[in-house]
Amino acid sequence: MAAEIHARPQSSRPVLLSKVEGHQDAVSAALLIPKEDGLITASEDRTIRVWLKRDSGQYWPSIYHTMSSPCSAMAYHHDSRRIFVGQDNGAIMEFHISEDFNKMNFVKTYPAHQNRVSAVIFCLGAEWVISTGHDKCVSWMCTRSGNMLGRHYFTSWASCLQYDIETQHAFVGDYSGQITLLKLEQNKCTVITTLKGHEGSVASLWWDPVQRLLFSGASDHSIILWDIGGRKGRTLLLQGHHDKVQAICYIQLTRQLVSCSADGGIAVWNMDISREEAPQWLESDSCQKCEQPFFWNIKQMWDTKTLGLRQHHCRKCGQAVCGKCSTKRSSYPIMGFEFQVRVCDSCFESIKDEDRTSLATFHEGKHNISHMSMDISRGLMVTCGSDRIVKIWDMTPVVGCSLATGFSSR
Ligand SMILES: [Zn+2]
Ligand SMILES: [Zn+2]
Repeated sequence: MAAEIHARPQSSRPVLLSKVEGHQDAVSAALLIPKEDGLITASEDRTIRVWLKRDSGQYWPSIYHTMSSPCSAMAYHHDSRRIFVGQDNGAIMEFHISEDFNKMNFVKTYPAHQNRVSAVIFCLGAEWVISTGHDKCVSWMCTRSGNMLGRHYFTSWASCLQYDIETQHAFVGDYSGQITLLKLEQNKCTVITTLKGHEGSVASLWWDPVQRLLFSGASDHSIILWDIGGRKGRTLLLQGHHDKVQAICYIQLTRQLVSCSADGGIAVWNMDISREEAPQWLESDSCQKCEQPFFWNIKQMWDTKTLGLRQHHCRKCGQAVCGKCSTKRSSYPIMGFEFQVRVCDSCFESIKDEDRTSLATFHEGKHNISHMSMDISRGLMVTCGSDRIVKIWDMTPVVGCSLATGFSSR
């Protein structure tokens, strides 16, 4: 059997700079402190810790604060040194971190949810703290008064959140696989639309306010780009992970998307090329190539005295085809298929060798990643997960070298 091996060029990789260990349970969130050799972590072990790099090159906690409930989400605003920690009991606690990162003072408790907080965003201009939780709702509260401003309920657990400050629109991903777009106002909200495309819970969202692109990563292993600004309902599918996509970050400057999955996979997608939309799957009672009936088409089976076949779909043309007419597999990166998928025989013939050139690079994080965040200006990434380990990565070998010079903070 003639099998072709398409090796991916893998000259440059993320460089592991540090491993930070010490948490006694899963680390739910970690972020790098801007312009400092430090990071903040929040863990299921009920602690929130600020780590600073010492002369020895090791990170040691300068703040170690124990909470009443496991920490599940976190938001940090560097200029004001305000930190918001979402907890498993549904409450969000606000603290103020001192200039030297040695003290953390309690400010306020927000009774935002009845159950585990899944995401927190602090909006300084409006003085709002917006959050989602496993009580199936998004809530927004005033950080001056501590009052609840509004709440909106979904049919399943709300798992992730993004917010467009300028237009006051929130994107909420949930366990049913839907993303809801809402306009938040002082005491009410309006549902603008729901985005349906994922076949599993949405685990991560990223909103790019400049290009008006929304990226979503889900437990169905896929990422979808929703071209909100294009207003034509254009969506691109990105399939390259082999496990739940837990965290995503879009680098607007280099037009690259970084994504991490639960199995430790780190992917860097080139979004600076024109990609093609994957087709809608067509429905048919018989194979659209050889016209043999599918097994549920009893009438045609009876008429033609043939046995029904299983229905499959060609990923490239979307036609409903039988197994015999779709024996070949191919990757097709321009449509987001980075690994081999089912294609019909005629589509297989149409795919040239150069069409199989990968449009992403894939790397091993070597731990189960549940959360990731980047400091884009320095090209640094921090990953954390259920193995209690936090890893700091130099991403500049894979995300371009012009980051430090061309970066404008937004
Ligand atoms: Zn067929
Ligand atoms: Zn086809």
